[in-house]
Amino acid sequence: KVHVEDVNKSYGSNHVLRDISLDVHPNEVVVMIGPSGSGKSTFLRMLNQLEMPDSGTILVDGYDILDKKTDINKVRENIGMVFQNFNLFNNYTVIQNVMLAPVQLGKMGKEEAEKRARELLETVGLADKADMSVGSLSGGQKQRVAIARALAMDPDIMLFDEPTSALDPEMVGDVLDVMKDLARSGMTMIIVTHEMGFAKQVADRVVFFESGKIQESGEPEQIFNAPKNARLQEFLSKVM
Ligand code: ATP
Ligand code: MG
Repeated sequence: KVHVEDVNKSYGSNHVLRDISLDVHPNEVVVMIGPSGSGKSTFLRMLNQLEMPDSGTILVDGYDILDKKTDINKVRENIGMVFQNFNLFNNYTVIQNVMLAPVQLGKMGKEEAEKRARELLETVGLADKADMSVGSLSGGQKQRVAIARALAMDPDIMLFDEPTSALDPEMVGDVLDVMKDLARSGMTMIIVTHEMGFAKQVADRVVFFESGKIQESGEPEQIFNAPKNARLQEFLSKVM
């Protein structure tokens, strides 16, 4: 469970997040939409302490992210993150990428980690690519490896920051399918995306960010078919 209350963040004089409050419940899929520069990535990055807020409260699985006594590595083990640009080790094989964190962090022995990695590669449709170098994969395949790698730590929550924006159009569907399966399996997910069809289909709740504020949030049906906020109406008229 994620609890965010009255969070503010500025970069110099740029007030990027303004009084953001959001709760995400176990098994819930929240999709965040909004124009470029509205603070979506900054918000996601705060949840695993890649950024620190200036004020407010952030609790993840009961851990207080702003408390200096909190062991942030423990928190991060429970949060998988998938980025636009994969952040994989290109000179390693696919399976090495997926096994690396659990082995290095002492969560599993090599054998168990490899077994788990093969299962995960199966679920993302890449079992046959296990021993290839990551550098030789397509963008869509790399992103599915990145998802498998994040899942290898057995996280409670998965964060996705525009996972398909860097992909060729024909690769997007495969990655979204993996994410749909994950959502169906009950994973708690927070996803920033411009894929409105996906949001409609998969989100339990859609949150619209604009100018560092949550301007509106609700079920996809309401957000897409009956938006109330004028800025959301304008945003949707541009992207749909
Ligand atoms: P996009 O859709 O383009 O990814 P976004 O909604 O994810 O946009 P953010 O990346 O969160 O937006 O950026 C919000 C604002 O914060 C922008 O004005 C951006 O320039 C600024 N910003 C983000 N990261 C930093 C940083 N490390 N230092 C200074 N300013 C930053
Ligand atoms: Mg962003």
